[in-house]
Amino acid sequence: MTTDFLIVGGGIAGLRAAISLADAGRICVLTKADPGESNTGYAQGGIAAAMGDDDSAALHAADTIAAGDGLCDERAVSVLVEQGPRYVGELMAWGTRFARDSTGRLVLGREAAHRVRRVLHAGDATGREIGRVLWERVRALSSVETLTHALVTELLVEGGRVAGVAYFDRGGARAEVRANATLLATGGAAQVFRETTNPAVATGDGISLAYHAGARVADLEFVQFHPTALNRAGAPRFLMSEALRGEGARLVNVGGDAFMKRYHTGGDLAPRDVVARSIVREEERTGGQVFLTLAHLDPDYVARRFPSIAEMGRRIGLDVARDLIPVGPAAHYMMGGVDTDEWGRTSLPGLFAAGEVACTGVHGANRLASNSLLEGLVFGARAASAMQQPPAVAPLKADRRSSNPQSRIPNPEMGRVLAPAAVRDLMWRAAGLFRTREDLERAVMALDATSLDAERQVRPATTHDPDAWRHFHLVTVARLIARAALRREESRGGHFRADFPERDDLHWKVHLTDQIDLHGQTR
Ligand SMILES: Cc1cc2nc3c(=O)[nH]c(=O)nc-3n(C[C@H](O)[C@H](O)[C@H](O)COP(=O)(O)OP(=O)(O)OC[C@H]3O[C@@H](n4cnc5c(N)ncnc54)[C@H](O)[C@@H]3O)c2cc1C
Repeated sequence: MTTDFLIVGGGIAGLRAAISLADAGRICVLTKADPGESNTGYAQGGIAAAMGDDDSAALHAADTIAAGDGLCDERAVSVLVEQGPRYVGELMAWGTRFARDSTGRLVLGREAAHRVRRVLHAGDATGREIGRVLWERVRALSSVETLTHALVTELLVEGGRVAGVAYFDRGGARAEVRANATLLATGGAAQVFRETTNPAVATGDGISLAYHAGARVADLEFVQFHPTALNRAGAPRFLMSEALRGEGARLVNVGGDAFMKRYHTGGDLAPRDVVARSIVREEERTGGQVFLTLAHLDPDYVARRFPSIAEMGRRIGLDVARDLIPVGPAAHYMMGGVDTDEWGRTSLPGLFAAGEVACTGVHGANRLASNSLLEGLVFGARAASAMQQPPAVAPLKADRRSSNPQSRIPNPEMGRVLAPAAVRDLMWRAAGLFRTREDLERAVMALDATSLDAERQVRPATTHDPDAWRHFHLVTVARLIARAALRREESRGGHFRADFPERDDLHWKVHLTDQIDLHGQTR
């Protein structure tokens, strides 16, 4: 099949791009599962935009940069916060129903590290509402063809530029789509960790696809661990939105004490990484679990404001307005990704990236809550503009450095080859909330070996086994994260090295990158 514009991913970034491209040619959107299965579909808290009377783009930028812990790309941040309200306004004009009061004014939510109320939301299922509106609009476009259950496994590279993708169709047959411009909008990667809030589709495929095609990836050591996923044996790690704490919910230890003030002056609304590590330390100190409590809030308000969370609670026999809710950290968001400029251009001609798969630099080392839906919206639209221009690549910025750890790591053939579940378990233990050189070296050794073995299973392109490809991409992403985490010998944002617990601007105010050269070596 040939088309003009190819979009891999049907979340907020891919759909917003498709809408902008509608009049420019034929568009093909591929998703690997059902249309609603994306991180976008699960987003709860909302979308941040400086739309309140007490707010401004400058204030939103300052909060974003403070959360990013010294590594935000300030140009990209300006684009995000200045253009955000316009694109959010457009979403409303298209029919997105954000919460409003009885006079029709928007009700803005509060989340950690935002100095003002700035989060537009639709109950506690904001992503579902935005996805509904975007899908409705895309389905009405005659120039867009959508292929669901199409698992993209390779980018086609011809004459140094990306010319389309190869994928497995719903029936497991291999097929190709060729296009003038290809957008990766494949979303997050938190499924490479055993404990995660992300749905099964979030395995970071776009990062691996781009990397193996020769594109530059960046900032992969920066993973955000959400502090409050449901932590009950046997139940999925359902997200307990930060908006709960924004509305007054408190974290308490097994003795019922609200402990967060002891760890950070921001208390329950301290930055996410601080809250996540404090929960683990409090559990170690007390030997018991940590809970979220809403018991001091009006139960009618809780039911109205958080209907999906209340419903999830009912399903597992928990009254979230009254009962203690066991919570703990889980991998949630990938700050790094395919290195792009502020138009979604990557280092490879013909290839673009937007949304969670991209590293625009807006999040730096840590994402401000509710900025990611906004990023997908703004940069999805901008990538669509760039896809209509003559081919150009994102320049290599001066503050980039290779994340090749110049290793003390022995030959990959010596490592143990791991199955997918073991990769996730290893990542959680060695590259999770608390990282050390010793653990990361062991992890990289095993991941190097596993990656070599996984590559042998899929190349030369002989395998028709989608699971072999899934494993290959999963372990590629895991290995890139672990290598970058090993290289960065400091702590910053979502990356915490127990052996280097301080931020070190003198040596590490840089972005670590990885890129394959023609001989298959990383540089
Ligand atoms: C539980 C939860 C709550 C969240 N809450 C918020 C929030 O309140 N506010 C906020 O701003 N952010 C939130 N986030 C983060 C936010 O939802 C995501 O960062 C954002 O939606 C990502 O959008 P995207 O378009 O980049 O990717 P996604 O929405 O994840 O879409 C990815 C798409 O790519 C497709 N895909 C992936 N790999 C392949 C492949 N190999 N072949 C074909 N198709 C592929 C998938 O099928 C899917 O259609 C939350 C995330 C989670 C998991």
